[in-house]
Amino acid sequence: MSATLIDGKAFAATIREKVAGHVRHLHGEHGLTPGLAVVLLGEDPASQVYVRNKGKQTVEAGMASFEHKLPVETSQAELLALIARLNAAPAVHGILVQLPLPAHIDAGKVLDAIDPAKDVDGFHVLNVGRLATGQKAMVPCTPLGCLMMLRGHLGDMSGAEAVVVGRSNIVGKPMAQLLLGENCTVTIAHSRTRDLGEVCRRADILVAAVGRAQMIPGDWVRPGATVIDVGINRIAAPERGEGKTRLVGDVDFDSAVGVAGAITPVPGGVGPMTIACLLANTVTACCRANDLAEPE
Ligand code: NDP
Repeated sequence: MSATLIDGKAFAATIREKVAGHVRHLHGEHGLTPGLAVVLLGEDPASQVYVRNKGKQTVEAGMASFEHKLPVETSQAELLALIARLNAAPAVHGILVQLPLPAHIDAGKVLDAIDPAKDVDGFHVLNVGRLATGQKAMVPCTPLGCLMMLRGHLGDMSGAEAVVVGRSNIVGKPMAQLLLGENCTVTIAHSRTRDLGEVCRRADILVAAVGRAQMIPGDWVRPGATVIDVGINRIAAPERGEGKTRLVGDVDFDSAVGVAGAITPVPGGVGPMTIACLLANTVTACCRANDLAEPE
């Protein structure tokens, strides 16, 4: 038996359509255009691709995109001054600082300088605290995308055993909070977890956010479980020709697909959802800033 594939591209397309509809409504009824500012320091190729895609999809959804590409040697003071300007700019409803930042910048300080109401990445300590205490927060985009796919696929998750492998601030921890909010029984596993295979086999919902290619084999997956693979890892693919590579997740897809009930592929699973959720968060921020009903 083969698992159902959870199609992140299709989910993301639906979210983008909804976002575009809200944007039309905000524009037509209230004369508002949600605006997203993206700040990039340096020329890291992967970050440049992400920023380009974010800008393109923001414009396609009918929103305003403000890109700030700064040289890698930009000082922390200059970056903080830009963030202060964006915090004060009425046309900017969402601010995203592309990570990772160069070593001479204190990323925590920069993220906490963003107005929490414009913090569409949900990394500001106030939003982290709000999420942890069940209050209205800006929720980090990648775990929010995972949650939307889980809700779409499973509906009610109450009482399910959920295991999140990885405890980063941007994926693992907020994912665990969101699953707790869905009334799952949540376990967070990490590099010091004893007998990780045994822990994973408990999971009705298994979320892998580790960053290690194919490290979770099929025999760690409980039969029928729903598997969300957040990992994006590039490995050599000699079968495609010399020097060729391909993307794989943290789960060994080929062995897991025969055991799981449903699984997200890599690529085409969690990845496309992240930018779609960023657009959705920007619309939410615009609605909140203007005391308007926000999208569900
Ligand atoms: P981090 O490196 O910040 O965190 C990795 C986590 O995995 C840590 O908590 C670490 O544990 C844990 N870990 C590492 N090795 C092991 C191991 N052998 N056994 C168990 N746990 C282990 O990564 P991120 O959370 O930022 O990202 C995780 C993955 O998700 C990456 O592949 C990244 O590319 C991908 N990603 C994908 C996104 C998307 O849009 N689809 C967006 C963001 C990330 P410890 O804390 O003990 O060190």
